[in-house]
Parts: sequence; structure tokens; C-alpha cells
Amino acid sequence: MMMVEKKWFIGVDLGGTTIKLAFIDYYGEIQNKWEIPTDKSDEGRHITTHIARALDDKMTEVGVSNDRFVGIGMGAPGFIEMETGFIYQAVNIGWKDFPLKDKLEIETGLPVIIDNDANIAALGEMWRGAGDGAQDLLCVTLGTGVGGGIISRGAIIHGTNGMAGEIGHITSITDGGVQCNCGKTGCLETVASATGIVRTAKDTIDSYPESLLHNKDEITARDVFEAYGSGDAHATEVVHITTFHLGLAIGNLANALNPSKIVIGGGVSKAGDALLTPLKKEFQKFALPRVKEGADFAIATLGNDAGVIGGAWLVKTKIMQKS
Ligand SMILES: [Zn+2]
Repeated sequence: MMMVEKKWFIGVDLGGTTIKLAFIDYYGEIQNKWEIPTDKSDEGRHITTHIARALDDKMTEVGVSNDRFVGIGMGAPGFIEMETGFIYQAVNIGWKDFPLKDKLEIETGLPVIIDNDANIAALGEMWRGAGDGAQDLLCVTLGTGVGGGIISRGAIIHGTNGMAGEIGHITSITDGGVQCNCGKTGCLETVASATGIVRTAKDTIDSYPESLLHNKDEITARDVFEAYGSGDAHATEVVHITTFHLGLAIGNLANALNPSKIVIGGGVSKAGDALLTPLKKEFQKFALPRVKEGADFAIATLGNDAGVIGGAWLVKTKIMQKS
């Protein structure tokens, strides 16, 4: 019997274009990490075989075998039944009624635990990233969409059917908002995602003939924050609109959840203080005094590794403790 501290975990983070894989040790250090392309052909039915083969190949290369590993923790997009690891639907993968956990367990011979991709990224940040030991975290990912993960007392909140933490679909614009991918209109995602920031910039640019953004062929969220850093009035307006809606949503969530850390991740978070400073100002307006005293903001630190590290954490805490 191998000492538990010598055991490793496998983290898998499934995205629409790539699958990130990693061997992670007992302490959450990545030992090997690599990527394979996501093959969406035939409604994504080859994905589990590709993962199993990629793991076998890497184990051979590294010189380890299955008995080194406790199990696989995997993050997947879409609507997931947590207990069974069954995917009801993952539109950008092609899965519909797909028994992900069962298939991956059969193909790899290892126990598998599945969670939503945003949730495992939040667990990764809690364990080895910006969470810094906090047990009550609110994680908001600002990318092409807005994702979220809520951790209370160290555990992800899933809700009654797995939908908790869908921060991106909190309604920000109650009347006349833009259509969201979820079917509603005016979701936070339509305003505060990279896509939403660019849309706001385009919608308001005509009122600012001097805007630095007129010089860009294709405006990006990064351009907006750069122009904001140069004191551009138009970019300042766009950042104000964005951080107002984010601060309102996060302030309201914080009043309900009382987190100790609010972690902001995703591509837009690369703006750093240009985002955090105005965001904190808006948040302060909406959070109760003791709520804001208890909450620190931080930018996510793990980047693309958050998902695989969170997957390893799930294996360590959910599979290892049982065995
Ligand atoms: Zn929505």
C-alpha cells in the first residue's frame, strides 16, 4: 500500500476547443500538464476515449501506472447531474444525455468525479490560488461569458438541481436588455463579459468624437481598459457602466453569502487594478458595512490551471476520503 502522500490526482478541464489534463500531487503541485484538442465530431462521443488514451500515453512517458492515482476530477461545461456525473446537455461539446462519469470510469479504470467547469476553477483558486485559505469564496469569471462559483465553508454550493452559482445570468438590465445565450435578456453576462464590454463601447462611441477607441479597427475589452488607463472619457464611461453592474450584482450576492474572498478571474481580470479599483468603489455602495469589512477582493492567480487543480481537489476530498 502506497503512502497517501505519494498518491497523485488527475485533473481534466474540458473546454470547447481544448481539453487540459494534469497529473497533480498530494499537495496540489502540478507534476505534468498538457492539452489535447476537443474532438466534437459524432456529438462528442470520442472524447472519453481520447482522454483515456492521452492519460495512458502520458503515464507511459512519465513511468507511472494507474495505481499511482486516486482518481480523476473533471470539469465540464453544461448542465450536469452532480451525483451521477451525467450530462443533460453541453451545447458547445455536442453532448445530450451523455453518461460522462460512467464512460470515463470504464475507459480509464479509475474513479471519476465531475463538476461544472466554473465550480472546479473556483475550488482550484480556493486550494492553491487567490483564495489563500479562505473557506467562503465568491468567484466570478469574466471571459467571453460570465461564470461563477460559490464556495461556502469549503464546499461548492450546487443548489437543488445544479444551477447555483450562475452569476452571469443575474438580471442586470430589467427592461430592454440585450438577448443572452440563456434565452433571457439583460443578464449580467450581456454587460460585464468581454463581449458585453465591447458592445457597450460600440453603443456609446458616437457620443465621444475624441474617443481613443475610434483608432481601433476592432475594439477589444483590453483596448477599453488601456484607454481608461490613459484617462479617455469614453473608456471611463464604459468602465463605469461595466463596474456599476458588476458591483451591484456582487454587492447583492455578498449581502446574501457573506464571503471572505471575492475572486475575479477570466481574461477581463487581466486589467488588474484598472478593473478592481472602480469595481470595489461600486461594490461598497451596495454591500452592508459588516459584509464589506469581511470581504477582500483578489484577482485569480491560477489562470488556465485553476480547473485541473480544482479537479484534483475534488478527488482528494471526495474520493480519497472515502477509500
Ligand atoms: Zn443569461
